[in-house]
Amino acid sequence: MDTSSIQSLPTGTPFDTGKQISAIHMERYNKVNTSHHPARSESIVILGGGVAGLAASVVTGAPIYEADSRVGGVAASDSGSGFTFDRGIHVLQTKNARVLKLLDDTGVRLNDCSRQAYIYSHDTYSPYPFQVNTAGLPLALRARCVWGYLNREKVAKPRNYEEWMYANLGRGFADTFLIPYSEKFWTVHPREMTHEWTGNRVPQPTTLQVLRGALWSKQTRIGTNADFRYPDSEHGYGAIPEALVHKAGPVCRGHRANRLDVRARTVHFDNGMAVQYQRLISTIPLPDLVNICTDAPSAVRAAAAKLRTNSILVVNLGIGRSGLSDWHWAHFPEKDVSFFRISFPHNFSNIVTPRGMSAISAEVAYSPERPIDRENIVARVVDDLIRVRVLKREDPIVFSMTRDIRYAYCIYDFERRSAVRTVREWLIGSGVVPAGRYGLWSYFWSDEAMMSGLQAGEKALKSITANDAVQEAEVANR
Ligand SMILES: Cc1cc2nc3c(=O)[nH]c(=O)nc-3n(C[C@H](O)[C@H](O)[C@H](O)COP(=O)(O)OP(=O)(O)OC[C@H]3O[C@@H](n4cnc5c(N)ncnc54)[C@H](O)[C@@H]3O)c2cc1C
Repeated sequence: MDTSSIQSLPTGTPFDTGKQISAIHMERYNKVNTSHHPARSESIVILGGGVAGLAASVVTGAPIYEADSRVGGVAASDSGSGFTFDRGIHVLQTKNARVLKLLDDTGVRLNDCSRQAYIYSHDTYSPYPFQVNTAGLPLALRARCVWGYLNREKVAKPRNYEEWMYANLGRGFADTFLIPYSEKFWTVHPREMTHEWTGNRVPQPTTLQVLRGALWSKQTRIGTNADFRYPDSEHGYGAIPEALVHKAGPVCRGHRANRLDVRARTVHFDNGMAVQYQRLISTIPLPDLVNICTDAPSAVRAAAAKLRTNSILVVNLGIGRSGLSDWHWAHFPEKDVSFFRISFPHNFSNIVTPRGMSAISAEVAYSPERPIDRENIVARVVDDLIRVRVLKREDPIVFSMTRDIRYAYCIYDFERRSAVRTVREWLIGSGVVPAGRYGLWSYFWSDEAMMSGLQAGEKALKSITANDAVQEAEVANR
């Protein structure tokens, strides 16, 4: 636990994150904050030290209470025996000027990368995305995809994600790639999901790109991650949260919130500590937050219980051979392959893997409806990697570790929208500002999670200022 930094908050101007918080907000915030309650009292408290919580702390200077011994959450990386693995594939694909400025201010060095990604289907590796790169596939399959695309059903308002695929990409692409992949990845059938999250997350080609991709094998590069950035650091993607922490307020590690009393505005931690706040910014998963609230109404509890997520078990392997592959990642829609995606960390940065070695990170999705055989998962992944020709039977596996991501992708089913609204309205009315991917229960990339943290920080500062102004006016009128 970082006790040295618990009690004191920075009193200077916050770091310039592109949009200046008005000086008056900070002045008021620091004024309130200098008079510490003996039982620990803060103006703003932040729960969770992932990138959203860190960004919120950069604008407010407020303390972060983090359950883990390290910051970074899902964007952190794990190391062992000279290998560094991200928690599932992580690349920075933002064009958001404010986030780029925030990262620039932290001094984190980012390299530009040009995506090398593939899809394994029908025993063939085709460049990603499949929709514009079918040239290497069997002729009948290619014809089915192109025919389906050209004759796709124009539906003005698709009712679910499956219908959205049929309407936008046609039955061929949907049935051969997108639906099997979705079922594996989300662990639910796309018929059970809305399509509100798709936006730029599912690449949508033009007719010319589809035809060109089916006729000759030329990599057509579409999608937001065709070019991306990745830290130039032996800490992998985790270098981003590690850089943010230097610009953030104090971080209290090893503080797992286990009780939240919104009436008394007090958070209790499982190490016996407690803190009072005026505003709480919470980036911890919504279902967990509601679960620890002592006074959540039953309607809020019922709404939180409806929120569904998939989970991902990441199997990380160090391989005693160099140049295993020059790809960044590959997708696997096939049902009989355990993982939905693999990535090769040594191709994101050549300093995350010991010299002369390679690394593979395989992501296996699961949920209560689709459990996995944990005991045998590493052996199963290795067997599958051999079967899909990524590993050779004789390749020495010099290191292995798994990382379980309990909350991975929030499932956009038909309950999500109204359930999130019910929980959020109650939280906001109770002085809690939710933020981050799991605090807002959204399909946020890390840049969007950071943005939500910045905005939550500003919101908390403003509402405290407004509250102070009301109180000052009341005193003046007495
Ligand atoms: C497999 C996978 C791949 C991804 N790939 C990409 C990508 O390529 N590019 C990209 O930009 N984004 C990617 N993302 C998304 C990105 O990781 C997230 O948007 C971002 O890291 C979320 O940050 P956050 O701070 O909102 O949440 P989190 O990282 O979950 O942070 C929440 C923090 O709260 C802490 N916490 C939880 N409970 C408590 C408690 N009770 N008390 C105190 N602390 C608590 C946790 O330990 C954690 O540190 C990916 C996500 C996943 C799962």
